[in-house]
Amino acid sequence: MTTPRLSLDGLCKYYGSATAVDNVSLSVSAGEVVCLLGPSGCGKSTTLRIAAGVEHQNTGSVSIDGTVVSDAAKHDPPERRSVGLMFQDFALFPHLTVTKNVAFGLRKTDRFSRERIALEYLERVGMQGHAEKYPHELSGGEQQRVAMARALAPRPRVMLMDEPFSGLDNRLRDDVRDTALSVLKDEGTAVLLVTHDPEEALRMADRIALMRNGRIVQIGAPYHIYNNPVDRTTAAFFSDLNVIHGEVSSRQTDTPFGLFLTPGLVDGADVEIIVRPQHLKIDLDEGQPPKPSIKTGVPAPGTVVRSRFMGSGSLIEVRMDHDDSVLRATLPGVFTPEPGTRVWLSLKRESCFLFPCAQQSRVASPYEKAPADTGKAKPDTAQGAATLT
Ligand code: ADP
Repeated sequence: MTTPRLSLDGLCKYYGSATAVDNVSLSVSAGEVVCLLGPSGCGKSTTLRIAAGVEHQNTGSVSIDGTVVSDAAKHDPPERRSVGLMFQDFALFPHLTVTKNVAFGLRKTDRFSRERIALEYLERVGMQGHAEKYPHELSGGEQQRVAMARALAPRPRVMLMDEPFSGLDNRLRDDVRDTALSVLKDEGTAVLLVTHDPEEALRMADRIALMRNGRIVQIGAPYHIYNNPVDRTTAAFFSDLNVIHGEVSSRQTDTPFGLFLTPGLVDGADVEIIVRPQHLKIDLDEGQPPKPSIKTGVPAPGTVVRSRFMGSGSLIEVRMDHDDSVLRATLPGVFTPEPGTRVWLSLKRESCFLFPCAQQSRVASPYEKAPADTGKAKPDTAQGAATLT
């Protein structure tokens, strides 16, 4: 087994009586991008600052290439860790040219090689034409590329990035992000990236570590986390959700959309069936209900209350006959039935998540075949999760 580039083991950080980081363990391999994802205040930046060495944890250790750089007994400063840092508010030196800004990170390299390496990295981030300019002559995106070249030029073993692209507008962000990713992958750098943006994490990460209240609640490949969330809050972090309520009876839960098996739960337990808008199917009412199927269960009737074209698809809101709840469906292309149109809704059952209400832990979809997590860490299953037997 290869030693991870970066290992965080049992990190805890307290500010007074508040716990900012609560027993975080994580490893990042060479060439891997791991995203710390979670809402504001959940401990992402503190974890990153501990990895960088600008913050000292109360307990736990940080290792780089198998060597402890920080624990209870020692604490190497950032410059002794071979880590590169990139933040949203990167500060280029205003009085230095672009080349000199990049060369600044190469103070340990001999004077003659510095400029050559700086120019090489400027080329890699597509900024070779701006080498003699000063930062104020560049756009935000260009400045960010220079900051990236400066962070990369010393060839750090680990790159720590805190919301590095959030200051850029959408179009620029995609460009800069893609360049960053390809250079970092080429270099085989281990990347730990903090973001609160699920789309960014899905787009960039090999693995996502989802944080809440200082803890990692789930870690895995983007596909795995998106399709196998440990609880409703995790599922909701990635998209809008529809919630259908049910009650367990004889190890199953009957709903207007058909029966769901819930053998781990006692009779009378409340269950939430969660389904993303893109996993609803709509059929126009043509006199009789569409046939039930194994894939989509039993169709339930409702009335369109609103429909909108959203660019990449259409959003249709339907008030259900059985309980007056409004469910939201998204469909590719243009489909905008008039309000009042009668429709049948059904659920793509393999994409439904079942959680018992009280603890919001995963029961499992009886119809899904979950792909194995391709990452190394096992999902941190929420306590008390019921499982199918
Ligand atoms: P995130 O990056 O997920 O937004 P942070 O790691 O910045 O979260 O913060 C986690 C928690 O720790 C927050 O409640 C924050 O207020 C607190 N915190 C962070 N830094 C300090 C500090 N220097 N002093 C006191 N509390 C802090």
